[in-house]
Amino acid sequence: MLTTVLLVEDNSADARLLELFLARTKGKQYSFVRVETLAAALKAVEENEFSAILLDLSLPDSHGLETLGHMYETAANVPIVVLTGFDDEELAIAALREGAQDYLIKNEIDSNVLRRAIHYAIERQQMLAQMQASEVRYRGIVEDLTEFICRFLPDGTITFANDAYCRYFGLEVGSAIGQRFLPPIPFEDAELVRQHFEAIAPQTPTHTIEHRVIVPNGEIRWQQRIDRAIFDERGRIVEYQSVGRDITALKQVEEQLQQRLARERLLGLITQRILQSSDPLAILQTTVDELSTFLECDRVIVGQFQPDGSSQVIVEALRFNALSMLDFTLPEFGIVDALRRVGTKEEIDPLCWQHEALSNELAQFRIQSQWVVPIWTSGRGDSDDCHLFLPTCEGGTAETSSRVCLWGLLAVHQSNRARQWDESETSLLEQVANQLAIAIQQFQLYQNLKAANQELKLLASVDGLTQAANRRCFDEYLDLQWERSLKEGLPLSLILCDIDFFKFYNDCYGHLAGDECLKQVVAQISSVVRNASGLVARYGGEEFAIVLPDTALTRAYQIAQQISARVKALQIPHARSEVNDYVTLSLGVASTIPRREGDSLQLIAAADRALYHAKASGRDRAVQKLMVVLD
Ligand code: GH3
Ligand code: MG
Ligand code: MG
Repeated sequence: MLTTVLLVEDNSADARLLELFLARTKGKQYSFVRVETLAAALKAVEENEFSAILLDLSLPDSHGLETLGHMYETAANVPIVVLTGFDDEELAIAALREGAQDYLIKNEIDSNVLRRAIHYAIERQQMLAQMQASEVRYRGIVEDLTEFICRFLPDGTITFANDAYCRYFGLEVGSAIGQRFLPPIPFEDAELVRQHFEAIAPQTPTHTIEHRVIVPNGEIRWQQRIDRAIFDERGRIVEYQSVGRDITALKQVEEQLQQRLARERLLGLITQRILQSSDPLAILQTTVDELSTFLECDRVIVGQFQPDGSSQVIVEALRFNALSMLDFTLPEFGIVDALRRVGTKEEIDPLCWQHEALSNELAQFRIQSQWVVPIWTSGRGDSDDCHLFLPTCEGGTAETSSRVCLWGLLAVHQSNRARQWDESETSLLEQVANQLAIAIQQFQLYQNLKAANQELKLLASVDGLTQAANRRCFDEYLDLQWERSLKEGLPLSLILCDIDFFKFYNDCYGHLAGDECLKQVVAQISSVVRNASGLVARYGGEEFAIVLPDTALTRAYQIAQQISARVKALQIPHARSEVNDYVTLSLGVASTIPRREGDSLQLIAAADRALYHAKASGRDRAVQKLMVVLD
């Protein structure tokens, strides 16, 4: 292969020698073009292609590094070997720095040295060209990647950043290099990022992290990045290279999935509570507690609608020192009117949501954002705690068809900041409200059943004529109170009373009048006992018993005297009575603090003895007896 060499040398003796050295070389052919001035040399490289240039730095029209500079500018791709005198080595080294491939000291040149110098100069130049080409190629690839690629110094100074990186972080493409730039990271992730960089060490030079960044439009996005550190020989980090990508969409899907799981868990929990508990207030309370934790809002309330459309807060969960709203009455906000206008659920639901009227009225609770969901129950509507109904749908009558009832409200509040409730949150609230409605309905059914049972039980325990408790009920109640007083160490009193000369009353006025008299007497006794607390029972024909729990003898005696006075004040004429013109009572009062050793029969016996004394000592009076149980 022919190697064409441009020899720039004004000294013809030196030139001759060099030509000679190369001519002797075996295997390789060299052709020479020789010029004596820089101007001629520049012209020659413009007109011809050369494999290499041998350049003497001191020419008639140029000296030193300047010569090289001009040459290099014109023929940057041709390797230049500089020729110098032996005392000019310093200049030669400077020339290398300026882009010369090699230098030769004229006196030390021989054929081999020259040949090798030219050969290596050409090879090095080719390698450099290849490297430059590949650099350009790879840079292109890196620039085009959607991944964010950058290199930066430990102080954050960027040494390289691809277009994607610059665009993502709002840096001007091309002028990012040299800037100190650290991506803005939200406060919550700062510690995580710090730990990430701390984890990078000579043994573990790379580390991956997922964290949030704030991009120039203020949006918070997720990125995943792998950082690799480059260490110096002493193990100090000199530079980082970082490859990142935006994973916001991925995170959103992941978050949605997690939220859905958490929501389902919460609903499961609430459903379970409903199944386990028969106490609706406890169900409502756990529900609001769980919701406030789950939604991280500072107040969750349940309000129950009143007949006038206002609603009263019956349970609440508070966080972050929120003010209590318990027992507060939320104002009516057009609900009654909407219902009257033959509203539908679809019309009334949006009335609730973020209702303006509620927001204004609730200013005192400093609520910045709220979301309100109605609690709709369905049922016959014969429950006491349901007041607002949707009009009965076609084909049914109010009595037979099941009706939809606006039972109450479930509301979440945020006081410390404005908050947008996203769709997943509002639909969760709706689902929870549905669960609560089921719980409330179940409870209403249970209440109805309980009321029916109580009625039956009452029928079995009430005296038909006087409506006082019957004897069976008296026995049960007295035993129950005996046990309770025994356990708590409280006094228990019993009054037995009997109408005086009632046989004569019947004889005189007839049995029906006698019955009427019995009813009136019981009504009076009951009105006195209502203010204390106890049980009035029909003990026998015209005999009544009053059980007074937690009542000592003095008080029981007072009550007996009140009863006596009230009955007398009725002024029911009793012509045949031997003690008064009107119907009167004789009363025996007994009291005790129950002891294990005694029983309730002893108390009855004591009251009976007292009654006997009242009769024996002239009737129309009360006699008291303290029952003492001897050890
Ligand atoms: P005392 O002052 O000693 O109590 O005399 P008394 O006549 O009230 O007592 P006695 O026990 O001799 O009579 C009770 C009467 O009560 C007898 C009975 O006819 C009447 N009596 C019992 N049950 C009823 C009832 O359900 N209706 C009516 N009208 N009278 C009844
Ligand atoms: Mg009697
Ligand atoms: Mg009597």
